[in-house]
Amino acid sequence: MNDNIRGVPVNKFSRKYKLAREVSEAQTNSTKVVEEKSPYAKFRGSKVLYVTDFASLAWCEMQQHYSLMAGGKKETKAMRAGSKIHNELELQVHDIVTIPTKTREDLWGIKFYNVIVGLESLDTNYKTRELPIFGFVSDLFVFGIIDQVGMKKREGEWTISDTKTRVRPFLPDQSKILPSVKYQLMLYKKLFDALIQGAIDEEIIYQRLRLNPDLEFSSELANIIKRFGNLDKGKEKEFQPNLRNLMRIVVNNFGKFRKSSNTLEVNYKYQKDGSDIGSLYFEYEEDQITSYLTKSAKYWKGDRTPDGVPIEEAWKCQICEFADDCEWRLNKIKELSQKKRALAEIT
Ligand code: SF4
Repeated sequence: MNDNIRGVPVNKFSRKYKLAREVSEAQTNSTKVVEEKSPYAKFRGSKVLYVTDFASLAWCEMQQHYSLMAGGKKETKAMRAGSKIHNELELQVHDIVTIPTKTREDLWGIKFYNVIVGLESLDTNYKTRELPIFGFVSDLFVFGIIDQVGMKKREGEWTISDTKTRVRPFLPDQSKILPSVKYQLMLYKKLFDALIQGAIDEEIIYQRLRLNPDLEFSSELANIIKRFGNLDKGKEKEFQPNLRNLMRIVVNNFGKFRKSSNTLEVNYKYQKDGSDIGSLYFEYEEDQITSYLTKSAKYWKGDRTPDGVPIEEAWKCQICEFADDCEWRLNKIKELSQKKRALAEIT
């Protein structure tokens, strides 16, 4: 299989790699006996959760649960327009090269390699886009991609930013930043800072993802990774292009950075032409994100059932595709009509 190179190099450090072939998760799961019935086991094979898996629970847990049972969210026109703008922004900071993968270790090798590329870009350009990030939430392995990390001045702090597209060419009201967006950004910061502090156990990652850290990458990826052999003077020949060595570089490189700013940014682009509308900012709240993640992790682990929306947010049910069959909503309607009947009997 040939390498498929595309995109225009912007600078020598910034070259990211995409997967030419995702190894089928279903295929690798076929030998696994699924014992647990938690959403983590049922929908994510007890391996990896995504940052959005946590953040999207903030809208309506029940809706997220139904959506997972239905096989995931369908791509909308707005989502397609958003992806196009994200791709264009990414190509402004690095090119994208597609290379083939043969093993699951290759697949994760590319993800971790892209972390290094992102950190090199931060180091040289004070800015990177689509930075892969990972870590643990209540023992669950979480992976995500930060839209942008940047710094205005060398002395400043790293600002973590998420890009949203808007149909209207002006900023929304500050109060309109959705809780899901806030939790998404707060979780990015939590994971980013944890990696900077070196608070990560690589062995648990390999176990959780069922990866062999010592398996050599396939030739295409191995040739790219070998450039890191130059980092250990005199040990070039000993350098093995595998996950264990790649992760060592990831962890070391994170250690060179300072913690990110407590101020988080939501940047808005106009959906029609991708032009910049401006940004809104909010502050990181440690207590808020910790209690939110603890509650969300209980859902993923199957320690509690998902909740529907509270009565004051019942308007969400009006635009929900699962409204007709939603048990939560039907039970609330039943409770309400029982209350009304009881009230009518009293009066
Ligand atoms: Fe949530 Fe309402 Fe939809 Fe049920 S109908 S899933 S409670 S938004």
